[in-house]
Amino acid sequence: MTKTFKIAVFNGDGIGPEIMQPTVDLLADIAKTSQTYGLVFDAVPAGAAHYAEHGESLPASSLATARTADAILLSAMGLPSVRYPDGTEISPQIEIRKELQLYAGVRPVRIVPGQPTPLAFNGGRAVDFVLIRESTEGLFHSQGTRDVRNDAAAYETLKITRATSEKLFRFAFSLAKARKAAGRGSGRVTCVDKANVFAAFAFFRKIFDEEAARHPDLTSDHAYVDATALWMVEKPWVFDVMVTENMFGDILSDLGAGLMGGLGLAPSADIGDDHAVFQPCHGSAPDIAGQGIANPFAMILSAAMMLDWLGETHGNTEMAADGIRLREAVEAAIADREGVTRDLGGTATTAEAAAAIAARLA
Ligand code: NAD
Repeated sequence: MTKTFKIAVFNGDGIGPEIMQPTVDLLADIAKTSQTYGLVFDAVPAGAAHYAEHGESLPASSLATARTADAILLSAMGLPSVRYPDGTEISPQIEIRKELQLYAGVRPVRIVPGQPTPLAFNGGRAVDFVLIRESTEGLFHSQGTRDVRNDAAAYETLKITRATSEKLFRFAFSLAKARKAAGRGSGRVTCVDKANVFAAFAFFRKIFDEEAARHPDLTSDHAYVDATALWMVEKPWVFDVMVTENMFGDILSDLGAGLMGGLGLAPSADIGDDHAVFQPCHGSAPDIAGQGIANPFAMILSAAMMLDWLGETHGNTEMAADGIRLREAVEAAIADREGVTRDLGGTATTAEAAAAIAARLA
């Protein structure tokens, strides 16, 4: 029997719509041939351009559509030229994470043959790890409080709660277990923190250790965030699943994207108990918007994660397999230097890059 899944689509700003359209087209093509599932797409407004025109960044109706959708596809949002009166940028993607309690920000870092990584590897070792960024609290907790006193000092508060940390660590260990079972990881979970200096991180680590004790079949360890930045460059192949606070994860995931050869290849998922958003790690790239040269691969890889997640969550093996097929089509295109855009040293346009993936899937 065919089940139809509703996907809420946020086209975003800058290059957002340019990379979203070919991604939705690819997904529609894949679903068309399925015997077990269908996809319907519901595009809703939000973002900097919408704020500039209508004075609201995330309309309540858009959030309501996201809440009732089976999954949410979100392209890059924000424009440096559009700001709130306090100077901060419009970022509905962060509001959605908080509203829908998407505590686990999943950032895979994977380097496959042909990928233009800046690293010179010893013996061509594979890199395949996942960074999980807590996405609802940490240093982002006080976002919007605008606590600037007499133009003399500004304050932000970091928040770590037991409830969210427990869910986050459960998610991390369960992902490590699944990766180990699939032959993709050693079953190691690393807690990345700054427990040597901050009591909040000692607390974070204590809760991590409590969860680790429930998984004698997996390995667990800790690393300070500064050393982790070093090791991600020096020996990234040692990592399997890493889990960390919101701001640390924000920074380390861009480092991961750099290892992969650029933001144009870095997908992500923000997952909660009831909802999930899939979006590229990169921003709206206003410097290249409107030129048709943006790399759509991070958006397509995020869509592949969505199929995989929907398939796993709903017990639909065909859908999960289609997610893997879509990811492998992108990896194979990169390996053969087909549909490679300028950011990766190629000459393909966005349309040509997407067509290369469609041809591999056909
Ligand atoms: P950015 O990621 O948009 O761009 C950084 C550089 O990477 C630019 O040179 C850009 O051309 C390039 N780039 C990014 N994605 C690319 C792609 N798919 N193909 C080819 N090149 C690509 O970061 P930024 O310039 O710091 O931010 C621009 C805007 O995006 C800002 O308003 C920022 O707030 C917003 N932003 C949004 C998100 C999000 O929606 N999750 C994330 C980061 C930044």
